[in-house]
Amino acid sequence: MRVGIGHDTHRLAEGRPLILGGVRVEHPRGLVGHSDADVVLHALTDALLGAAGFGDIGDAYPDTDPAYRDCDSAKFVRETQARLNQAGWHVVNVDVIVFAQEPKLGPIKAAIRASLAGLLGLNVADVNVKAKTGEKVGAIGRAEAIGCQVVALIDR
Ligand SMILES: [Zn+2]
Repeated sequence: MRVGIGHDTHRLAEGRPLILGGVRVEHPRGLVGHSDADVVLHALTDALLGAAGFGDIGDAYPDTDPAYRDCDSAKFVRETQARLNQAGWHVVNVDVIVFAQEPKLGPIKAAIRASLAGLLGLNVADVNVKAKTGEKVGAIGRAEAIGCQVVALIDR
């Protein structure tokens, strides 16, 4: 049994779609990044990689690689989970905290949870999603960015 942690932050800007945990969220601004900038799926990928001792998302999916431009980040999670499975690991549960001053995440937490459970092939009971604001301080509190932390437990 092993544990991994993932963390990510992306900047909010106009003219981008906002995608959190594979869920398209209606909002005037979205996250900026090389891929679709899904901050939740990036933190989840890093937690899975970390649990297995496979390094980090930057090693696995360099943001200088044109193959990943505007890429659906679900690809990163699916491929990483397949690598874990090949090494004999399966995901036991994940716990997710999304840090966003806006939009309000309360109404969409359940959708993100269901999306992550579907992506990982887990029961929703094994995927927890929590939402925090930035308490109006710092980049997240000023709604300039959204952050995410994920802890994942894996077992053989
Ligand atoms: Zn990222």
